[in-house]
Amino acid sequence: MGFAIAIDGPAAAGKGTISKAVAAHFGFAHLDTGLLYRAVGAKVLAGADAIEAAQNLAADDLNDDSLRTGDVAQAASRVAVIAEVRAALVDFQRAFARRSGGAVLDGRDIGTVICPDAEAKLFVTASAEVRAERRFLELQARGADVTREAVLADVKERDARDMERAEAPLKPAQDAVLIDTSNMAIDDAVQAAIAAITAGRES
Ligand code: C5P
Repeated sequence: MGFAIAIDGPAAAGKGTISKAVAAHFGFAHLDTGLLYRAVGAKVLAGADAIEAAQNLAADDLNDDSLRTGDVAQAASRVAVIAEVRAALVDFQRAFARRSGGAVLDGRDIGTVICPDAEAKLFVTASAEVRAERRFLELQARGADVTREAVLADVKERDARDMERAEAPLKPAQDAVLIDTSNMAIDDAVQAAIAAITAGRES
């Protein structure tokens, strides 16, 4: 049995960066589970049926730069409320979590639903305003034509849909370590995450 690390939290809280750094630190594999929902969302935007798309997802579908756009993120959160879509993606995520070399999975429901027995659980969050500002700067750097207001509205809309859905809503697992990155440099957040996991491993 490998060592599973679950890292959940809302969009642009720093989960992705923290997860990659944690995986590199421990020499574990990393799965950004948002990509699964984004890949399904992108297929729906292209006219596919959401449930069929989720049931037939292939590894190649995840390697696509266009999955990073705001439109695909919104489409992802719309397909993510569908129970059959979520169910189709469970086995792949659980198998990944239990690979022998150790694994880091980041998403919304990893510590609560996918891997409630994960050896370490983090919930990474930040205020909606801070997250929207980070996302705005990121999109702007990529040349996207967006306003701060639109990005904040988008973040809040996606938060509400992710937290209020019936299936696997976004919330911290009871035993998750909370890391609020609102007033933290990303390097400090990474160090806090590694310290929390290391402390848990040694206890
Ligand atoms: O993390 P990311 O922004 O790529 O996720 C896109 C969307 O996919 C989220 O807003 C959420 O609705 C959905 N998602 C989910 N469960 C996960 C990961 C992502 O519902 N484990």
